[in-house]
Amino acid sequence: MSGRTRIRSCPERTCVGCRERAAKNELLRIVAIEGACVPDPRGTLPGRGAYVHPVPVCLDQAVRRKAFPRALRVPGPLDVMALRQYVEQAQGC
Ligand SMILES: [Zn+2]
Repeated sequence: MSGRTRIRSCPERTCVGCRERAAKNELLRIVAIEGACVPDPRGTLPGRGAYVHPVPVCLDQAVRRKAFPRALRVPGPLDVMALRQYVEQAQGC
């Protein structure tokens, strides 16, 4: 007898690399911490998040078009070393 309505629409986000929409759980959340892009796979870090496919291609595109500072509303360039490492490890090849 719970009156809960089920929300079936799964949340979508736009990848800042290829600009394609994808389900939130297919994308990696990124937050800016102290001038660096930090991967937030569990989505627990506070602040604005940007979403990108966890693949080097999308990461490179995002870096090239400076999508992270824009999406995260920070003025300067962001370091993506940690993020790149994370993505390359996530590839697992
Ligand atoms: Zn993408």
